[in-house]
Amino acid sequence: FDEGGFSLTSEGHAKSSYNWSSIKRVVENSGGLFIYIPRWIDCYFWFPKVAFASENDYRDLINLIKARVRKFQTLDTKIFVALGSNLGNSREIIFQAIGRLRKFSREPLLKSSLWQTTPVDCPPDSPAFVNAMAVLIPFPNETPESLLEKLQQLEKEFGRQSKKILNEPRPLDLDLIAFGNEIRASEKLTLPHPRAHERRFVLQPLAEIAPD
Ligand code: ADP
Ligand code: MG
Repeated sequence: FDEGGFSLTSEGHAKSSYNWSSIKRVVENSGGLFIYIPRWIDCYFWFPKVAFASENDYRDLINLIKARVRKFQTLDTKIFVALGSNLGNSREIIFQAIGRLRKFSREPLLKSSLWQTTPVDCPPDSPAFVNAMAVLIPFPNETPESLLEKLQQLEKEFGRQSKKILNEPRPLDLDLIAFGNEIRASEKLTLPHPRAHERRFVLQPLAEIAPD
């Protein structure tokens, strides 16, 4: 590895070089790095952590790659989704919605229990909320934007209408609380979720499944 990219030499073969721009994705897991370069066949290069002289060497490389390759992903990226409902059979809706979220996670979901909470900043006489929290592990091509779209689609499937009154009762609310360390400040998406930390209905379920 160097500033230009990386090259490989193996016995009896010519040296082959790959520049940073030819790398389309890097995936890190606990064992090392997969570097993906699309060619005539899809091709992953595997760099086991143990092949590096020291943990520091390995970290330096990770930092270099993070700076050079836009699509760098770690398999320990966690997604936190807050679920809420205060219209219809809320318990049933939350159970079913958790079932549907499974399809968006490459690993089995972590999920909190269901919490009943009193509405905050809602119109008068709003029914109580049922809340829960789920942790997902993203598929390789998932982005915060692509996931938010899926969550909003799911809200619609459960009968969510576009809002007329601020915080009016809804059958299903799915908020993206965090997507790994991703940060966003666009009109459609703010990450981490701006109001999560001040809401008990987010913090209590979260404390159950992610105490730290
Ligand atoms: P709330 O969840 O605050 O009660 P809504 O569910 O009606 O309100 O969401 C309003 C808008 O918030 C959505 O159109 C969505 O684009 C935007 N939004 C911004 N950041 C996030 C996020 N992290 N998770 C979910 N929605 C978000
Ligand atoms: Mg919402």
